[in-house]
Amino acid sequence: MEGEAGERLDLTLLRRHLGASILTLLLCAAGLPFAAQPAADAAPGVSRVSDIRAWTNEIYTRVAIDTGDEVSWKADTLRADPARNLPPRIFIDIRGAGIRDDILHKPVEVRNGLLRQVRAGRFDRDTVRVVIDLERESTYRVFALQDPFRIIVDIDGEGEIRALPASPESVAPPGPVAAGHDVPSTPSAAPPSVESTRAAASHPSPVRKHRVRVMIDPGHGGKDPGAIGPTGLKEKDVVLAIGRKIREKLSRYGEFDVLMTRDEDVFIPLEERTAMANKGGVDLFVSLHINASRNRRAEGYSTYVLSRGASNREDLELAARENGVPIRKFQGVKFIIDDMFTVARKNESLRLAKTVNDAVVRHVSTRYSGAQSLGLKQAPFYVLVGARMTAVLVEASFISNVREESRLRDPSYLDGIVDGVVEAVRYYGRNGILASSDH
Ligand SMILES: [Zn+2]
Repeated sequence: MEGEAGERLDLTLLRRHLGASILTLLLCAAGLPFAAQPAADAAPGVSRVSDIRAWTNEIYTRVAIDTGDEVSWKADTLRADPARNLPPRIFIDIRGAGIRDDILHKPVEVRNGLLRQVRAGRFDRDTVRVVIDLERESTYRVFALQDPFRIIVDIDGEGEIRALPASPESVAPPGPVAAGHDVPSTPSAAPPSVESTRAAASHPSPVRKHRVRVMIDPGHGGKDPGAIGPTGLKEKDVVLAIGRKIREKLSRYGEFDVLMTRDEDVFIPLEERTAMANKGGVDLFVSLHINASRNRRAEGYSTYVLSRGASNREDLELAARENGVPIRKFQGVKFIIDDMFTVARKNESLRLAKTVNDAVVRHVSTRYSGAQSLGLKQAPFYVLVGARMTAVLVEASFISNVREESRLRDPSYLDGIVDGVVEAVRYYGRNGILASSDH
């Protein structure tokens, strides 16, 4: 995930150059944000906070802190301190890391009702502290993703969501912090103006609605081709074609608003895809992928929901590959996925996943022989972590299988996959959303 400077500048809604470098603090109140800018110029082995990214609306914010190499960190909260004119805060202390000078004490204001600003500074000689100034006390979750290492903070602004238990691995127990333990607040720059350039996430409010909002997420893209078949077919191109067809067919039915995380050949970090869906108030999230295996005979269809671990080596390898993480690093990763949203949506996600997989196999089988269902599965996919809606990940065929790769070049084969997903989403839209939206 390196070297993509400039690749997605066209998607930038707001890009504040804090100095001469590509270092940016990006805030996005109504649309898609920008490209990740990994610390390509950081010296090997030297961790430093190189970028802070955020996606936000009035009830949800995801902040991503890029450090390049793995760092040790902890997160905690500070209550409002009226005497010092400080709001409630979430802070993340990153040990043994540096920070790019042009991020230091350069807060960016948001003031969207949930988040006031994000700022960063040196807490002590060895620790960088990133502080998120909140407008009001909110629940939050923090977890880290690998390769490149980044710390993700999800902040929930909905009143009915109760505080989540802290993870003993990563989140220190809450407690009073002495004055002076905060990064000094500095005057803010003028609030950025925000404009939306794409439709995909331009409906920030996830209020109850009659139309079902679906986010189709074609995996990979841009510098990330995904899996590549024996004759060179790329997963990123196949899933984009499938995603476009799904959007086209679903849009014919009046009850759906269909959004896509990408509808062109661009790279989007996994955490950004989930953030886009959350920010857009989406009801259903369908991530599209094509499987691959060292076993060239492996074939068939499986649909996944998020879980903490995988039930077998193949599924763990698959999740590691889809996450862009070497398996040796991935095995030790701990997710914080037992939050209320994930738990509340787990059964719905399982139901949708089964419906999708069955429908895809059925539709493909009407035109092609030997369509195999590998069934409903669970694995730790980054792209599903933190999703606030019913969310599944489809692995539609094996691109590593000669016959299936050849079929994936055939538009009518893709139509079978598309028809299956469309039927399942329509079924779920009629029967699932209504049952699940009142809790
Ligand atoms: Zn994939």
